[in-house]
Amino acid sequence: MSQPNPILGTMTSRLTTPPTSRSGHILSRAVTFQFALDPNAQQRILLDKCAGARRFTVNHHLARVRANLDVRSAEREAHGDVGETTEPSTPSLSWSGFSFINEFNAWKNGQSDDSPLNDDGSCGLAWRHELPSDVFECASVDTARALENFSSSKRGERSGTPVGFPRFQAKGKVTPSFRLRNRATPGTAPSSQPVRFTDPAHLRLPRFGPMKLFGPTLKVRRMIDAGRFHIYSATLSQRAGRWTVSLTGVAAELHRAERSRTNRHAGPVGVDRGIISLCVAADANGIPIESFEGVKILKQALVKLKAANQTLARTTPGSKGRQRARSRLARTHRKVANTRRHLVHQASRSLVDRCQILVLEDLNVAGMVKNRTLARSLSDAAMGELSRQLLYKARWHGVEVRVADRFFPSSKMCSGCGVVKDDLDLSTRTYSCGACGLIIDRDLNAAINLARWRPKEPSAVTLVVPTRASLLSTA
Ligand SMILES: [Zn+2]
Repeated sequence: MSQPNPILGTMTSRLTTPPTSRSGHILSRAVTFQFALDPNAQQRILLDKCAGARRFTVNHHLARVRANLDVRSAEREAHGDVGETTEPSTPSLSWSGFSFINEFNAWKNGQSDDSPLNDDGSCGLAWRHELPSDVFECASVDTARALENFSSSKRGERSGTPVGFPRFQAKGKVTPSFRLRNRATPGTAPSSQPVRFTDPAHLRLPRFGPMKLFGPTLKVRRMIDAGRFHIYSATLSQRAGRWTVSLTGVAAELHRAERSRTNRHAGPVGVDRGIISLCVAADANGIPIESFEGVKILKQALVKLKAANQTLARTTPGSKGRQRARSRLARTHRKVANTRRHLVHQASRSLVDRCQILVLEDLNVAGMVKNRTLARSLSDAAMGELSRQLLYKARWHGVEVRVADRFFPSSKMCSGCGVVKDDLDLSTRTYSCGACGLIIDRDLNAAINLARWRPKEPSAVTLVVPTRASLLSTA
């Protein structure tokens, strides 16, 4: 059984077979647990330093790569030949995570020609020993990955929106964050892993010691103790003044009873994004299954957001009041984001618990026409997240997900007689059919149509089972 590479962690585990824990569980689910942290004064300083070190490392690599690219393109131009036959005399840099780690280690340890010189005559990065070395290595690996995304996008091998050259990390412009790996294989006893819970309220991280955290940890601790979850890495990030930790790793499959529930709705259930609610679910017989209020609660939060924005606008730039108003606005943003995430998790969990077959509309979120109405764009964003969560939770719980083709007129078709309207305004909340006289809630109508959707060819059923690799990359 191959174990993940301790240096690259999750990067190589994408390519290998799932690891096995010491209790014999096959860890094939990519799972992340997130907790808010309550660091002490010393830990807070170290957190800030680590985030700074990450920015520093990323910028170091980007500057080297940028300079190398510029020199090579200047040489190409000097040749007066744009053809691919003439190679510039300056060799191109390797963009791999390994070479980035090696180069940066040599540079910071004073073993490289361009290592920094200190006042006391020593060579190398003076403050390197204050921080866990993992901060530098993870930043190097992440930069390599960002550059790989950029180059594969440039070669046209990457789907989705084009990815540009990675941005330089400016303090105050990027979310302070960094990553630490749990340098232990899945077979290691929990008590000897570098990243571990020391008690229900404390997480130990290398160099940080036990750090206090909020929220219930019982579930994750039980999973770790039973060998059903292994932490690959801990990502720490600060939003609106609060540090959170995301523990990313691999977990065992859910219990058989969870994967094959007997009390689920047997027939296909259509899920349509609502205009007022987050989503509406109904079956082919027109029976509403569930309707999740969501956008309404978010709208209330938006009122607060607007007030916080106005307060900010009334303050004088550079004043204490401005600082206070800004942090209040950031806290409100954080609250809106947390509320949305919570609601979407609730809805997706409830749907996979209650239904055996889910039919979604094809949401090409990236390519969707940007809509100006706030409520609509909110529901679009929430629905995109909902379908992402439904896909992975469906796989965990043994639920089938079908995606109706993009041209299926789920909103415009009458669920009573099948007549398709030419046009249906977004503001129209009730569907009234001119042919059969049916009057029905617009979202419910669409959900019923989706539940009745059948692929044109039986073989073309889009049974979406996300691969482990795609799950890991979104985790
Ligand atoms: Zn009709």
